[in-house]
Amino acid sequence: MAAAQYFSRDYSEARQRFTAAASAADARLFTYAHPGKGPAEEDLSTHVAWLGPEDAERVLLTISGTHGAEGFCGAGVQTGWFESGLAGESANGIAQMAIHAINPHGFAWLRRVTEDNVDLNRNFVDFAGHLPENQGYDELAEALCPPNWDDATIAETREVLAAYAEAHGMDALQRAVSGGQYRHPEGIFYGGAASTWSHRSLKDILRRHLSEAKQIAIIDYHTGLGPRGHGERICPAAPGSDGLARVREWYGDDHTCPALGTSSASEIHGFNVIGMEEALPEASMTAIALEYGTLPTEEVKLALRADNWLHLHGDLASAKGRAIKDQIREAFYQDADDWKQMVWERAIQTQRLALAGLSDG
Ligand SMILES: [Zn+2]
Repeated sequence: MAAAQYFSRDYSEARQRFTAAASAADARLFTYAHPGKGPAEEDLSTHVAWLGPEDAERVLLTISGTHGAEGFCGAGVQTGWFESGLAGESANGIAQMAIHAINPHGFAWLRRVTEDNVDLNRNFVDFAGHLPENQGYDELAEALCPPNWDDATIAETREVLAAYAEAHGMDALQRAVSGGQYRHPEGIFYGGAASTWSHRSLKDILRRHLSEAKQIAIIDYHTGLGPRGHGERICPAAPGSDGLARVREWYGDDHTCPALGTSSASEIHGFNVIGMEEALPEASMTAIALEYGTLPTEEVKLALRADNWLHLHGDLASAKGRAIKDQIREAFYQDADDWKQMVWERAIQTQRLALAGLSDG
């Protein structure tokens, strides 16, 4: 079957396809109901599929939809992995766990953020402690999220951002915009003021299902950064850590590390892996984000800013609202066969390497 068929048109279809494929592959399914609703008043939930021995010490964990609207990609891979029969190939006592739509609200509403405008991958910080500062964002907050969204405003604010890049460099601009910020609850890349539902649920899921696990391979699916269709294996672990050493062992040089400046992603605060390590301090984790390119970064950022404006000031049902939603979808999901094929091939190659790493470890 061509890979394109594994991908769904929206959250509801993705959820239905995933649970059907997991059941047909004899995986056990668990549902974590989200308190909110989707745009068509549909129920929202995160699903967990488990295949293999219940008390497995070695587990391959895949996650989709950390950034809501990016969920098309990871959900397609998770569904295809079950539907194609590839999931059944793993043995050696290794279990597989797939978390489908950990941020179901964002997926259903075509938003990168959670129901409380939080970037889930900036939310795993110590809210009782001193929160990370981001002076660059403070400086650019108004330009990034203006109260009006029209051609004139887009052009004006683009100049402000260009001037910042001119003065401080492109990397500094990227860090300021996307590194994460904790002062502007209505802004973009906001890390939150408390743990979100998705944050708490991820920890609950790990504690419930992975308390026996000693070795966990994590692949968290993302989109929106890097060249179109390329899947960058981003290792969030610190230089010198065992986690980074294992990533190097399993995936060779074909990985990047934001802390070493080799990634298309900035170094960020509040990565979900931090929360996963907190939930399971005894387990050794070998984690990557598999990040696929879609549109040029400029366009992705523009779509995010437009969507932020839409939910704060605009009308979702208007022509402008619908156009912005199309823009967001394009920014995080390329509804094209060649893109889906590239996503799929890289994903199965990566998941097989992770299984091999677990086998040897
Ligand atoms: Zn992402």
